[in-house]
Amino acid sequence: MTNEAKQVWEQMLPLLETELSILSYDVWIKTIEPFEVRDGKLILMAATEWGKNTVNERYLPLIKAAMKRVNSLLTDVDIISKDEKEKFAEQAETYEIKEEPIVTTAEPMNINPKYNFENFVVGKSNQLAVAAARAVAEEPGMRYNPLFIYGGAGLGKTHLMHAIGNAVRTSHPRLKVLLVSSEKFVNELVKCLGQRGSGSSFRDKYRSVNLLMVDDIQFISGKMATAEEIFHTFNELYDANKQLVFTSDRPPKNIPDIDERLRTRFEWGFTADIQPPDLETRIAILRKKAQIQKYNISMDVLSFMAERISSNVREMEGLLNKVILLSQLNETMPSVELAAEALKDYSQKEEGEITVDDIIDATCKVFGVRREDLLGKRKTRDIVEPRQICIYVITELLELPLTTIGNIFGGRDHTTIMYARNKVEENLSQQKIIDDVNNVKNMAYKK
Ligand code: ADP
Ligand code: MG
Repeated sequence: MTNEAKQVWEQMLPLLETELSILSYDVWIKTIEPFEVRDGKLILMAATEWGKNTVNERYLPLIKAAMKRVNSLLTDVDIISKDEKEKFAEQAETYEIKEEPIVTTAEPMNINPKYNFENFVVGKSNQLAVAAARAVAEEPGMRYNPLFIYGGAGLGKTHLMHAIGNAVRTSHPRLKVLLVSSEKFVNELVKCLGQRGSGSSFRDKYRSVNLLMVDDIQFISGKMATAEEIFHTFNELYDANKQLVFTSDRPPKNIPDIDERLRTRFEWGFTADIQPPDLETRIAILRKKAQIQKYNISMDVLSFMAERISSNVREMEGLLNKVILLSQLNETMPSVELAAEALKDYSQKEEGEITVDDIIDATCKVFGVRREDLLGKRKTRDIVEPRQICIYVITELLELPLTTIGNIFGGRDHTTIMYARNKVEENLSQQKIIDDVNNVKNMAYKK
C-alpha cells in the first residue's frame, strides 16, 4: 500500500460515507484497501472477486467523482481483487526497474503541483503575502529572508508555500527545495540528536538545501530542548544566503515559549499576514476552484456558498466539492437548492444562523466604522469600543475558539480577545453598553 494511495483514499472515505447507506458503505467501501497510485491511476483492492465486481458495477462513478474531488490530477480508478494483488505487484516491480534511471534526487521534493500561483486568487486580504512570496520565488535568498507568512486556518498559507516551491522548481531547477511540516522538522532533529555524532546528519541534510520551507512553525512552541539546534540550522542557512520561508497561525511575537533569538530571527526578514477573504474574493476563489474541475457554476450558486462560509477557504472548498458531487450524482446542474442541501452537513452553519461576517458588518453599520479599521490595528477610542462590542457579540452568539476570533481580528492573541470580551461583560450594567450590544445583535439578525 503506498502512502499516496492511502492518503487519497482516506480523504475520499468521508465523501463516500455521506453518499451511501451505512450498510453499503460498511460492506463495500470500508472493506476496500488502497493499493497504489500508478500512472495517475488510483488502484484499489477489494477483499474478494465478488466485492470487486459489485463495486465496479454499482459504485465506480461515485468513487471516481470522490477521487477527482480529492486529487484532480488522478485520471482513473481501477479495482482489483486481493487474489490479483500478487500479479499486480510483480508488474509493478518490472515497471519500476525500467523507470529507475530517471529518478535522480534522493530526497522527494514534496511539493504539490496542484498548489501554484496561477490558481491562487489574489485579493486585498492576501496581496501582500502573495507579492512577497512571488518575489522570494523569483530570487530566492536575495530579498525577504526569512519570509514569514501568518494567518488563520484554511486561508492559503500552505498553498502559497507550495506555490513558491513550484515556481522555484521551474525557474531555478537546480536549486534544492525542501518543504517540511514543523513537526517533521523537529522529529527528525530529535531523532538525530539521539544518535551519536549529535545532530550532524540532520544539519547535513538541511544545510544542503537552497530553499527551506517550514510549515506551521508555531508548533515548535515549547520545544526548548531543541531550540539551540533549530536556531543554528536556520542561522547557517541564512548566513549562506539560502532562502527560508515559514508559515504560522500567528505572528512571531505571539508564539509562546520559543527561544527569543529565534523569534528575533523570524522578524528579521519580511512578515506578511493573510486575512480572511472578503466576499468578492471568496466568490472568485470558488469560481477558480470550480473552473479547475471544469465546472461552470452560476453566480447565484457561487455567492450563496461564499456568503455562508466566510472565514475558512478550506471549508468553503469542501462545500463546493460536496455540491459538485451531489450534482453529479443527481445528474443535475449545481443549483442553490443543491448548495442548501450540501450546507446542511455543516452542523455549525444551520440555516438562518448568523455568521462572523454578519456581526462584523452589523458593528460597522451601527458605529459607522470601516471594516479594515475594526479588524485592524488602530487603537483610538472610536475604534476600540466598537471592536470590543463586536468581539463580545461574536463570543456570545457563536461558538468559536478565541484563537480563531483573534485571527479574524488581525492575528490578535486569544488573551486579547478574552480581555475585550471581559471588558464589555464588566460594563454590562451601563445602559449605553447594553444598547450597543443589542443594536449590533439586532442589525446582525436583520440581514
Ligand atoms: P492554511 O495552510 O492557511 O491552513 P491552505 O493553504 O491549506 O490553508 O488552504 C486551504 C485550501 O484553501 C486549499 O485548498 C487552498 O488551495 C485554498 N485556498 C486558500 N486561499 C486561496 C486563494 N486565495 N485562492 C485559491 N485557493 C485558496
Ligand atoms: Mg497549512
